[in-house]
Amino acid sequence: MDDGAPETVCLEFTATSTYRCGMCGDDLVEMVDGVESESGAPCCGEAHVPERVALSWCNSAAISVDEVDDSVTVAISVGDPRGAFTFTVRRVPDDAAGNLAGRLVMHVPYAAQPAPHMALTALHEGTYLVGAP
Ligand SMILES: [Zn+2]
Repeated sequence: MDDGAPETVCLEFTATSTYRCGMCGDDLVEMVDGVESESGAPCCGEAHVPERVALSWCNSAAISVDEVDDSVTVAISVGDPRGAFTFTVRRVPDDAAGNLAGRLVMHVPYAAQPAPHMALTALHEGTYLVGAP
């Protein structure tokens, strides 16, 4: 980080299925009348037991460090993979006008945000339901 260019570390999540069978481990696909394995194969002679695949809701998680902006941003994508919820902490420059000079400020997603990554509904202060209420 000696050239001041922003640096990003990103984890991409590549789960192909949101459900898998708790008995046989097969990836399951949602059908009109329930779930079944992609091959349609039965599970040890019985119905598959669907379980949600952990972290299948997450597209990516990234941390960006920007020395020019004196900021760190965390981005978590759960909806459209081209977007993300972003959380940024930045230091206001020492020579900035006003009493925030040299102080840290934090930007977080909020419920009434224009063009949100996904809709947010406040459950209580600092906690939101993600998606349609
Ligand atoms: Zn199974």
